[in-house]
This record gives sequence, structure tokens and C-alpha cells, in this order.
Amino acid sequence: MKTIQRIAGRPSEISAGMTVRRALPTRQRRMVGAWCFLDHLGPLQFDAGQGMHVGAHPHTALQTFTWLIEGEVLHRDSLGSEQVIRPGQVNLMTAGRGIVHSEDTLAEVRRLHAAQLWIALPASAADCPPAFAHYPELPRWQQGNCLVTLLAGTFAGRTMAARFHSPLVGLDLFAPVACRTELPLEPDFEYAILPLTGEMLLDGERFGADEFAWLGRRRSPIVIEQSAGSRLLLLGGEPFAEPVHMWWNFVGHSRQAIIDAQRDWETGSPRFGSVAGRETRLPAPPLPWSAD
Ligand code: MN
Repeated sequence: MKTIQRIAGRPSEISAGMTVRRALPTRQRRMVGAWCFLDHLGPLQFDAGQGMHVGAHPHTALQTFTWLIEGEVLHRDSLGSEQVIRPGQVNLMTAGRGIVHSEDTLAEVRRLHAAQLWIALPASAADCPPAFAHYPELPRWQQGNCLVTLLAGTFAGRTMAARFHSPLVGLDLFAPVACRTELPLEPDFEYAILPLTGEMLLDGERFGADEFAWLGRRRSPIVIEQSAGSRLLLLGGEPFAEPVHMWWNFVGHSRQAIIDAQRDWETGSPRFGSVAGRETRLPAPPLPWSAD
């Protein structure tokens, strides 16, 4: 039996006073298929007048994927999109050659719980036109006592409507009562599971919230035991064949692509545009390498 790698989500401050747990990338694992970034936000409690406010910032060569569990967040972007996302919904923003967006919890929101992920675009799609899509309804079903939501890809004969650029899957597994679920997995996908709340047992090993369990490939079927009230995020995908660079909010297929994106952001190039009503632009930290 192959062992399951246990990776502790690391604290990361995404805006003033707001710390999240980052499960990807880490030193141990950079990606699960094309999934290259995973922040677990909350559950967080806000005082009146507080909230999450992430100013306008750019992205390239990736899709941002937001899964909202509690709270309400307003997404705005340089395409003119303005979309409130609510619990049970997904926002998918394709950055392609370049986009800018901001994210703000609505004024009355006191609790926020969400997962924010990025999906690396393969080189063939890295420069595609930017796009934004909102998915108010996702495929949901019950397997035994587990409530399954299909967040991305195809699973158990169901397909989530969004377009992705490489084979991948995402599932939310919620256990209203303690339950044991057997799931068939694709033999050629690699998989990992992040408990968002509560805990799970995999092969007799216990994983608590924010302990990322890396399963790798050829492990089908898996048997997951969940504690009552627990919620898990299962990610999978075909191992990403291309080396990708990540820096700040950029993905690129070469170091030069990242250097160009950072220069274009810093010089206010029309490549990125701006977000109407959200004038605060987040500054990029200095590049970790010298630009030629
Ligand atoms: Mn972003």
C-alpha cells in the first residue's frame, strides 16, 4: 500500500489582517493536475465594517476558480463583469493573456468560507482572450449519506458545464452525519484531498482541517470516512506535462513571460485594463530574478 503524503496548509496573509491556509503550491507539491494554487479562506468571522477587500490585481495564463461555502463576495473585472457569488456557486475567470479583478465581501457579510483555486493554462491556451463565467447551479447528488457537489470536470456520469483546458476534476464532499464513501478514481489522474472542516480517515490515517492528503495516481477506488459536519475538497487531474512558472499572481510558460507580465502591470499597459469602481491597484513585489 502506497503511503499518503500529509502536507500542512501554511498560513498566508492575503489582505490586511486576513490570513488563509495555502495548500498549493508548497515545497512538497506544486500542482495536482493543472490545479496549481489552493487557498482555504476561513471560516472567518468579521466585525461590522470589516471584511475581505482584495484590490485590483492582474492574472495571466491561468483560470481563477472560486468555490463559495459561506458569505457573499462581489467580483469585478476589467471585462466589465460585476458578479456576486453566493454559497454553492462557482466563479471561473480565464485570465489568458491578461485580466484584472477585485474581490470584496458585501457590507453585511459577517462570515466567509471559501476555497480559491487557480488552474494553470497549457501553453496552447496561455494567451487566449480573457473571459469570466458564473455558475449558479452545480450538479449535486447524494451518495449514501454524503452530499456530493461536482465543482469541475466529469464524475459519476455527470459533467460540470465549465470549459477547462486540461482533464481535471473537483468535488465537494459534505457529510451531514458521519459517513463512509467509496469513490472510483481515474487511473491516470493524480488526486489530493483537503479537509475544509472536520476530519476524515483515509486508509486508517486521520486528517484534520487544512491537512492536505496527497494520493497520487492509481489508487482507485478510495474509501473516505468523514466525521459528522465535515467538508472535503477533492482535486484531481492528468499530471500537467509542461513546466510552469508562478510568481505573485502570474503563471507563465517561461521566466520571460512573467517578467513581461510584471512590467506590463507596473507600466499600466492596456494589456490588463482596469476595474471600474475599484481604483486601488495592488503593487507587485520585486521580481525574484533580475529582469534582462
Ligand atoms: Mn485574483
